[in-house]
Amino acid sequence: MKVSKDCVVSLEYRLHLGDGKVVDESEPGQPLAYMHGRGQIVPGLEGQLEGLSPGDARKVVVVPAQGYGEHDPRGLQEVPRSMFPPEAPLHPGLSISAQTAEGDVIPITVREVKGDSVVVDLNHPLAGKTLHFDVTVREVRAATTEELEHGHAHGPGGAH
Ligand SMILES: [Zn+2]
Repeated sequence: MKVSKDCVVSLEYRLHLGDGKVVDESEPGQPLAYMHGRGQIVPGLEGQLEGLSPGDARKVVVVPAQGYGEHDPRGLQEVPRSMFPPEAPLHPGLSISAQTAEGDVIPITVREVKGDSVVVDLNHPLAGKTLHFDVTVREVRAATTEELEHGHAHGPGGAH
């Protein structure tokens, strides 16, 4: 079966940012499972997978607007150094998790440390980046009734 809306796709992938250095990949033998057409992977990649069959491999280049979005300068914020534990080894490029008032955990990146304050970036770490995916479709199957109700893939590589 071919990749189409609401089918469950198992995908091996490797992601780099143009220099070949891998920043994310599926574990060997453990492809990512997702439900196609639900926006569960970045739109620029999802669109290129449409119609592929098991065994098909593609190189897909995704511009920021079709990936994790453009980098928003409003995401750069200067906060007091005292918001971090004194022993925290803050340096530019450091990724940390922060909890919002609503309890969501979001990744933030330290951009600059200036004495009593720290410039942090609330953008997604891959915002503004062109994404280079090497993908291989491993399996395409119809979703079960339960998966359709939940809106996501179950089983290895999926939810639960
Ligand atoms: Zn579920």
